[in-house]
Amino acid sequence: MVERIRAGVIADVVRHAREAAPAECCGLLLGGDGEIGEAVRTRNASGDPSRFVIDPADHIARRREARNRGLAVLGFYHSHPRSAAVPSATDRAEAAYPGHLYLIVGLASDPPDLGLYQFDAGNFRQVRFVTLD
Ligand SMILES: [Zn+2]
Repeated sequence: MVERIRAGVIADVVRHAREAAPAECCGLLLGGDGEIGEAVRTRNASGDPSRFVIDPADHIARRREARNRGLAVLGFYHSHPRSAAVPSATDRAEAAYPGHLYLIVGLASDPPDLGLYQFDAGNFRQVRFVTLD
């Protein structure tokens, strides 16, 4: 399976990650038909800068707005300010949405490292993606 991601999504996620550093950023990935078309920001409700918790109120509000616009929540994104775009043990322990995509942006390298994963049965499986203009 190869997912498609709009180039604007990558740009938005990287910008958010850089603004939030040294804390992690997070948000939702919206789209449909195997294409991630939009990234929307949510606040990180974690007090610990080295982890993320999507703010529950933001999660509900952004989900409702997406539904009203006919878009699906395909998954989530977050950043690793000092490490690669590989799911951490914490990510594995806290992921709660089977069948969803998880995009990670790693700022340890320049240009940033991007990893896309599908979460199922308690594990992340890396998913290949292509970027569309
Ligand atoms: Zn992580």
